[in-house]
Amino acid sequence: MPPQQPEVSAATDPAAPLDITRLLTTITDNLVGMIYRCRIDAIWTMEYVSDGCHKLTGYRPDELIFNNRVSYDQMTLPEDRARVGRAIHAALEANEAFDVEYRIRRADGCIRWVLERGVGLRNAHGQLAWIEGFIQDISERMAANEALHEAVRRYRSLFEHATEGIFQTTPEGRYLNANPALARIYGHDSPDTLIEHLHDIPRQLYVSPERRAEFVRLMQEHGVVRNFESQVYQLDGSVIWISENARAVKNTDGSVQFFEGTVVDITERKQHEAELEHQASHDSLTGLPNRSLLRDRIDQAIVKARRHDRRVAVVFVDLDHFKLINDSLGHHVGDRLLLEVAARLTSCIRSHDSVARQGGDEFVLVLTEQHDENEILAVIRRLLETISQPWVNDGQEYGLSCSIGISCYPQDGDDPDALLRSADAAMYKAKESGRSTYHFYTPELNQAISERLELENSLRHALERDEFRVYYQPRVEVASGRIVGAEALIRWECPGKGLILPDSFISIAEETGLIIPIGQWILQEACRQNSAWLRAGLPPISVSVNLSPIQFRHAGLVQSVADALQQANLDPACLELELTESFVMHDAERINVAMQSLKALGVDIAVDDFGTGYSSLSYLKRFPVDRLKVDKHFVRDIDSDPDDAAIVRAVISLGHALGLKVVAEGVETRAHLDFLHQHGCDELQGYYFSRPVPAAGMEVLLRGLANDACHGQTLTDPRAADARRCREQIFE
Ligand code: C2E
Ligand code: MG
Ligand code: MG
Repeated sequence: MPPQQPEVSAATDPAAPLDITRLLTTITDNLVGMIYRCRIDAIWTMEYVSDGCHKLTGYRPDELIFNNRVSYDQMTLPEDRARVGRAIHAALEANEAFDVEYRIRRADGCIRWVLERGVGLRNAHGQLAWIEGFIQDISERMAANEALHEAVRRYRSLFEHATEGIFQTTPEGRYLNANPALARIYGHDSPDTLIEHLHDIPRQLYVSPERRAEFVRLMQEHGVVRNFESQVYQLDGSVIWISENARAVKNTDGSVQFFEGTVVDITERKQHEAELEHQASHDSLTGLPNRSLLRDRIDQAIVKARRHDRRVAVVFVDLDHFKLINDSLGHHVGDRLLLEVAARLTSCIRSHDSVARQGGDEFVLVLTEQHDENEILAVIRRLLETISQPWVNDGQEYGLSCSIGISCYPQDGDDPDALLRSADAAMYKAKESGRSTYHFYTPELNQAISERLELENSLRHALERDEFRVYYQPRVEVASGRIVGAEALIRWECPGKGLILPDSFISIAEETGLIIPIGQWILQEACRQNSAWLRAGLPPISVSVNLSPIQFRHAGLVQSVADALQQANLDPACLELELTESFVMHDAERINVAMQSLKALGVDIAVDDFGTGYSSLSYLKRFPVDRLKVDKHFVRDIDSDPDDAAIVRAVISLGHALGLKVVAEGVETRAHLDFLHQHGCDELQGYYFSRPVPAAGMEVLLRGLANDACHGQTLTDPRAADARRCREQIFE
């Protein structure tokens, strides 16, 4: 069957002649919108409206024409009426067509936006009598416009009120747009002044123009940057940190049109980060680099030295007797001292060297780019000299000194740990060699360090294993030649090591706190022994016990002295306590109080090693001291060194002037004895009379004395001294 041809009506027959009226009617009836003619009267009386009226207004044409049911003016929203009227009349007067948008209320009550376009028509007399025009519903477009406006308004508000800076810039570095926050971040009054002033972003804004170059490079390559941090200048020249997030907006051909993005000021965060980093890598008291940063510094120095064939010296500096100051004067004074030392050390080095605090009273210097040992030595001498300047705190002067150990890259280690270990070992060696000195690392030192550690370990068990012994060294009265006292001196009988002298372990005992139980033990033992001698009928003597400053600071000291006396049932007058001079002068006030309580028990107090510290006469006068013990180093050369002789003479007269007895230690020869005798020293102690001997030996000495006394001989008598020395040999 052939396809059916659509029936061709006369109206659609293309061959039919054009009927303009019919065509216009078709258009008019089918238009979305309403064609009209109205009178130019107060209520716009419609004379004609097209069929579109119904759809537009909800009223049928006949209801509107001649205001049959409603006038067009009524339909227009009252708020819009006056404006519409004015617009139309103005156009009519100007003989122009008009375009006006307003709202109408439809028959169903809902409100629609319409656009009315019209033109005035004149009557036969040439007077404006009608308007002909077209009204269409534009509600949808208006809603879309409104939404668009709303969106723009919202974005504008975001842009204006954002706390982040927002920008658009050309790739060359000019601003196209900036928001108030950006202006604020960069220190400008407004976006306009910012845009006007900043026309060369790479050079005017970025502290380092290369940073901007990097920004542009990333943008070109990836079209975006994230959290891009840079330092920039504010208008007044101050520098802040910013972080940028941005993207490249491209043309259709792919070329960059502009960059847009956001900026936040991260200066505070950066400062905070820097602070945290500083805290993590620096010592909080002195502000010096701490251990971890020190390792970095040594590492860096090694890398550099390797490249330039130089040396690095790692210098371990340990304050002598810091624990003493810290324990006796309190931590606040200790802290002040550490600050002082930090400043002094820093003053001794060049800018590319470092000083770090390793912990406690230990500092480490890293000397870079050293050519040879002499160069290092020059710095070390400067250090020793600078540190040994007296330190004045609260009007009181203190002598300072330090012990220094040095290790060098490359020979003593090629990493921070090895160099620090070596320098530490060398420092211990310096301490052993009498402090206030330096020592370079040698491989043998490793051995010494492990021995020290071993010693420390054994010391911890020495008391419970009953390895301590007390030796006694007699103190002889010059006037009578009799033994009037004995100093209790500790010895350690360490299995496999023999008899160890106190200088080798007292400082370890002090550092480890073991000195408290050890000190208490010797106090009890000395009191018990003295009491036993008395009960055995030997001539009464006073036993002297050395007290460590650490014991002195310990709250239980007075009680433990009282306990020792009571347990031994010993007359307090038979016990003397010795304190070293350097300690007595630290924190004199507090020590005076403690001394007074000891004194109140009835014991005697002696200032030991007198002449080595920094005594203030006024303190000495106020302290309840009974004896001054002249340090043995002054006695050694009294017969040959005029300075030492003068010092000893001065100490004797000073002691006497203060009403104190003066004891000389280290009396080894007849010449010593004669000199001291001649200058009025009261009591003597030294190898000339006896080395320190065990209790049994002391007992023999005391018995011998009793016998000798019967024979009219005294210990200051040369014959008696010789005879006694023979006896003593038996016990040594
Ligand atoms: P110190 O209290 O000044 O004791 C005197 C030191 O000089 C003793 O050394 C003694 O043996 C030594 N000495 C005595 N006469 C002579 C002499 O004629 N020539 C020479 N060159 N030396 C002589 P020691 O027994 O080795 O004690 C050393 C230091 O150890 C003591 O010095 C004292 O400060 C400390 N010490 C000893 N025992 C104790 C103790 O039980 N507790 C505390 N805290 N320290 C103690
Ligand atoms: Mg002593
Ligand atoms: Mg002494």
